Amino acid sequence: MTAEYNHPTISEDEKIIRPTKVEVDLNTLKNNFNLIKQLASPSKVNIVLKANAYGHGLVRVAKLLQEIGADYLSVAVVEEGILLRKAGIKMPILVLGGVWGNQVPLFINYDLHITASSLEKVKQINEISTQLKKKAKVHIKIDTGMERIGVHYYNSDKFLEAVYKCENVLVEGIYSHFANADSTDLTHTKLQLERFNESLQFFDKNSIETPIRHIANSGAMLQMSETYFDMVRPGILFYGVYPSKDLPRVIDVKPALTWKSLVVYFKVIKPGHPVGYGLTWQSNKNIRAVTVPVGYGDGYLRSMSHKAKVLLNKKLYHVIGSISMDQIIVNIEDNSAYNGDEVFLLGSDGTNSITAEDLAEWAGTIPYEILTNINTRVPRIYK
Ligand SMILES: *Cc1c(COP(=O)(O)O)cnc(C)c1O
Repeated sequence: MTAEYNHPTISEDEKIIRPTKVEVDLNTLKNNFNLIKQLASPSKVNIVLKANAYGHGLVRVAKLLQEIGADYLSVAVVEEGILLRKAGIKMPILVLGGVWGNQVPLFINYDLHITASSLEKVKQINEISTQLKKKAKVHIKIDTGMERIGVHYYNSDKFLEAVYKCENVLVEGIYSHFANADSTDLTHTKLQLERFNESLQFFDKNSIETPIRHIANSGAMLQMSETYFDMVRPGILFYGVYPSKDLPRVIDVKPALTWKSLVVYFKVIKPGHPVGYGLTWQSNKNIRAVTVPVGYGDGYLRSMSHKAKVLLNKKLYHVIGSISMDQIIVNIEDNSAYNGDEVFLLGSDGTNSITAEDLAEWAGTIPYEILTNINTRVPRIYK
């Protein structure tokens, strides 16, 4: 059996030859990190790097965070953790997703922290670590009101008692996750916080040293400092995007990602000549149009068809017709553009900007999905 995890290996020069690329401004990420660190201080900062660091590039962003002194990293799946270890990342790494029995040796050998979310799994982890004669590091996951993974808060005492009987399981942390901390209605978030605090009483009651407590995602960081505990766990905020546009701009983080391409083709389209698959758009007069080599195969979502705009020569223009897998067509009306002119799909040209929120609105989704969908076919360039 063979398997491929990332895109095939091509040389560095070959990687950046494509006109469509993502530029990541590492300095902006650094500033965002410092703003988050200041806000969270004295709590530790654990930056969430799942899904290719929200599209920004897992390994390069992790290296930056190691250089600038982040305390902790989180990823979603064990493969992401292994990639980071192989790239020389030495910081503590928590894998947020559930664990399968056959993955436990990988966690232990790569020193990745396991999310412990059921008694059955903890027993399995303990057995395997006993066989390997190496302790497994875990963070206990409490479900305080999301019904995803984790032990229900109302069963946590019994669970914790059992975990502390497992000799080869080291409890590094205990955490929970908010379902709607990005909402301005904080009723459910407050309830979740209360339940988390209830579960945490176990340590005082049993005179056990409290492990690292963490629950705050970006939304909670912006709205409730009482959720910071020993460590905060923001994702989207670090990338300079607010989890919702309803939240107050507490810290001035800036988007770090620019998605660009180039004009590759120019033509005049006559009336009665429909554009693109399905013939979904046509003009009633002569228009000028350009073709840009990006499409839903790169993560430029097809659901943005008939809504998306791009920036070209400092002006916003509509994408016309259905978005294809690899190309889009842009109506430049009676203006001109030339092959090689720069096209901004996401980001700022210094005058105007297109945000992840804009793309999300056109696609009927959230900024998170826009960022994580820009796939590995698009090279990442770091400034
Ligand atoms: C994704 C995730 C985060 C980060 O969420 P943001 O809203 O991006 O800040 C934190 N914790 C867990 C468990 C997550 O899955």
